Amino acid sequence: MRAYNFCAGPAALPTAVLEKAQAEILDWQGKGLSIMEMSHRSKDYVAVAEKAEADLRKLMNIPENYKVLFLQGGASLQFSAIPLNLLGKNSKADYIHTGIWSEKALKEAQRYGDINVVEAGTQIDGKLAIADASTWNLSQDAAYVHYVDNETIGGLQFASVPKANAPLVSDFSSSILSAPVDVTQFGMIYAGAQKNIGPAGLTLVIVREDLLDQAKPEIPSILKYSSQAKNDSMVNTPSTYAWYLSGLVFEWLLEQGGVEAIHKVNLAKANLLYGYIDSSDFYANPIAVQNRSIMNVPFTLANPDLEKLFLKEAEENHLLNLAGHRSVGGMRASIYNAVPLEGVQALVNFMDDFAKRNA
Ligand SMILES: *Cc1c(COP(=O)(O)O)cnc(C)c1O
Repeated sequence: MRAYNFCAGPAALPTAVLEKAQAEILDWQGKGLSIMEMSHRSKDYVAVAEKAEADLRKLMNIPENYKVLFLQGGASLQFSAIPLNLLGKNSKADYIHTGIWSEKALKEAQRYGDINVVEAGTQIDGKLAIADASTWNLSQDAAYVHYVDNETIGGLQFASVPKANAPLVSDFSSSILSAPVDVTQFGMIYAGAQKNIGPAGLTLVIVREDLLDQAKPEIPSILKYSSQAKNDSMVNTPSTYAWYLSGLVFEWLLEQGGVEAIHKVNLAKANLLYGYIDSSDFYANPIAVQNRSIMNVPFTLANPDLEKLFLKEAEENHLLNLAGHRSVGGMRASIYNAVPLEGVQALVNFMDDFAKRNA
C-alpha cells in the first residue's frame, strides 16, 4: 500500500502519474524502448518535451513574451545563475530576506553583485511574520528584486505579490502550481521540480524575454538563459526522464481542473490542518496567520520529549516524513498538490488520537 508522504522534498507524486510512468517504462507508446533510452533530439522525445511546455503554459497562463526553460542544478544553481544573467549591465539587486532559502540566495548573489538586503522578517504577537512592505528599504535603481514566495523550512509565505519598481525574480520552488499566479507581475519565476512538479533533477525557469540580453560575459553557457532559450533548453542533454515525468504531472493537473481547482483543495487541506492545530493545546504553529504557508505546515508538540514517539507512531500509521528540517526541529507536514485531502484528514485524526493519549 502507498503511505501518505509529507516529505518537504523530494516529495509525494500523484499515484496516477507513477502508474502511467510504470505502464510506459519498458515500452514507451509501442516504440520498443523506454523514454529514458531515447535521444533527447529524437522526434518522439522532442514532442514529449514540447507537450510538457505547452501544458505548463496552459496551467500557468504564461504569456508569449516569457521563455520557459527546463534546466538542471536545482533552485540552488539559480542562486548563481540569476545574478550572472541579470547583473551584467546594472550590478545592483534587492534581496528580500525572510528565511533560510532567501538567505542562501542572497549569500550566493553577493559573490556577483552589489546586493541590498531587505530585512523583512518580523514578529506579530510572538509569531513570525513578513513585515509590511512600507518598512522595506528597497533601492531606487536595482536591476531586480528577489524574494522567496514560500519559505519551505519556516513555513512562511507571502500573502500577496510584493510591489517593486524593478522586475521581480521569485523562487517558487515549494509553491509553484499550488495557487493561481499572474505571471505578468514577474520578470522571472523559478522552481526546483522536486516539491510540487516532479522528480528531482529538473529546474523550471520562466523568464521575460527582455531580461535575456544582460548576462555577464563570463557566464558559463549552460547557465545562460538566452543560450538555453535559443536551444530549447538543450544546450546539452537535459534531464529527460524528469522532464517527461513532470509532463505527466502537468497532464494530471489539467485533469484535476487546473491550478484554480487544485488551489481549492490546497486551501481545504491547509484550513483543516491549521484549524486543528489552533483548536489544540497540545500542538502549536509559530507563524502569524496571514503568512502561514499553504504548502508547508510546521508545528511543535507541547512536550518536545514526545517527538520521537510521535514520529514512530505516525510511521506505523503510514504517515511518513513529518520531522521538521534539521535546522529548526519540531514537526513539519508538507501538503503539496499530490497529497490528497484524505491524507491530511488521516494526519489530523492521528494527531488528535496521539494528543488524547499523551496529554
Ligand atoms: C528546496 C528549495 C530550494 C533548493 O532546491 P534545490 O533544488 O535542492 O537546489 C530552494 N528554494 C526553496 C524555496 C526550496 O524549497
